[in-house]
Amino acid sequence: MRIIILLGPPGAGKGTQAAMLSKEFSYKHFSTGQMMRDAIASGTKIGNKVAEIVNSGKFVQDEIVCKIVFNAIEKEGAINSIILDGFPRTLPQAISFDAFLREKDLYKYVSIINMMLKDIVVIDRLHGRLICARCGHVHHAKYDPPKRASCCNLCYGELFMRPDDALDVVQSRLKIYHELTDPLVHYYKNTGANICSIDVDKPATEVYSDIKACLL
Ligand code: AMP
Repeated sequence: MRIIILLGPPGAGKGTQAAMLSKEFSYKHFSTGQMMRDAIASGTKIGNKVAEIVNSGKFVQDEIVCKIVFNAIEKEGAINSIILDGFPRTLPQAISFDAFLREKDLYKYVSIINMMLKDIVVIDRLHGRLICARCGHVHHAKYDPPKRASCCNLCYGELFMRPDDALDVVQSRLKIYHELTDPLVHYYKNTGANICSIDVDKPATEVYSDIKACLL
């Protein structure tokens, strides 16, 4: 049993690394951002409530996110290992999550990977990101351009830009990240949690090796 928390700014590659880990080790991948986007796309009550917040790059209220994540973990039971991509993202979320895990005697399974990336690289990575609506593959206008305009190289699905990847929204997301999520690194270090920091300004395969080394 493992509970892996991927901490890092938007664009650090949390989704990519979580997908690689879950493919190799069959870990269950929980992306809170994807959960929000799915809820918005299917027009659920929560989706309608959070749509404006998510599209503007602000954080959804702690109580809503915690409820969604705790329910998802409870559904999973204490059987499967999980990767959290995008949660916790604020101090209150981290504190509530610790309490939730301790109550279930799961805290001992937690490993935190702190993925570090400079702001300038975050902006460059996000503002150019093109996502396939069909298979989810992420292209980049500059670094991995599609061969045919607006068309995924892998499955020919249509490519779209996330509304929160617009330049002004990316800048605001980064500011919020530094204000609300950065303090989690100190929090986890101070609580003696199992946390490992890695530089992620390198190819995804190299980052993946570093993450696996941290998890040994
Ligand atoms: P992401 O795909 O991880 O970049 O998340 C997209 C958006 O979903 C964020 O900008 C927030 O609006 C929302 N979101 C995802 N996870 C959280 C969280 N743990 N706390 C608050 N808002 C979140």
